[in-house]
Amino acid sequence: MSVAERRVELKTSKEIDALRAAGRLAARLLDAVCKEAGSGVTTDDLDRVSAEFIRKNGARPAFLGYRGFPKTVCLSVNDEVVHGIPGPRKLAEGDILGVDVGILLNGWYGDTARTVAVGKISAGAQKLLDVSKESLEQSMRAALAGGRLGDVSYAMQSVVEQAGFSVVREYGGHGIGRALHEDPHVPCLGKAGTGMRLTPGLVLALEVMANEGKQDIDHKQDGWTVVTKDGSLSAHFEHTVAITEDGTEVLTRI
Ligand code: MG
Repeated sequence: MSVAERRVELKTSKEIDALRAAGRLAARLLDAVCKEAGSGVTTDDLDRVSAEFIRKNGARPAFLGYRGFPKTVCLSVNDEVVHGIPGPRKLAEGDILGVDVGILLNGWYGDTARTVAVGKISAGAQKLLDVSKESLEQSMRAALAGGRLGDVSYAMQSVVEQAGFSVVREYGGHGIGRALHEDPHVPCLGKAGTGMRLTPGLVLALEVMANEGKQDIDHKQDGWTVVTKDGSLSAHFEHTVAITEDGTEVLTRI
């Protein structure tokens, strides 16, 4: 067993109940933000919607202040992969917007993300969204007790690459619980039948980051925003799942 595996924390069913409550609140927040994402709306407007929603629901934002992140949610437009900082940028018809939300409720974290269309988008952009979403669905289906972590990453990668897109190498999903990011790290690419054994009690935030063009990424001057190096579009989808004796439950689905 590797050092990383030793730090993996398995959750009891009571703890999964608490994570489900946090996950569902995060899912409601994600819906609320996505609903407001229209042409002419600034990403700061959406950040304010998030802050208000979290406050009203007795939770705390997970990202605000995390390693110095300055806003409540991550909003990534077009070629921005993840970790976009809300600001004065106005969304425009044809944009795609990655919305990543995280909350802390009663000591437990909820984390989920989705990329949505602003108005009418190109057929190519729509295909990227559809494929990325399907990639996450397939990876969740592969996250089964008795399987391996590599099965999950392999499912993610193969759906994206079969469509002619690429997965991001440098970022991925993670364990989640009383900490926002726990072990194991869950890459967007991997080999089936390899990696740590998936066991009941494991709670994972699975994240797909898919680029329309090449896999290579860059970072913006703000120190946070990850962009595609070739300027192509990028999509991000994330759900938190709990692996149990009875199967795998998506905690961030309402
Ligand atoms: Mg996450």
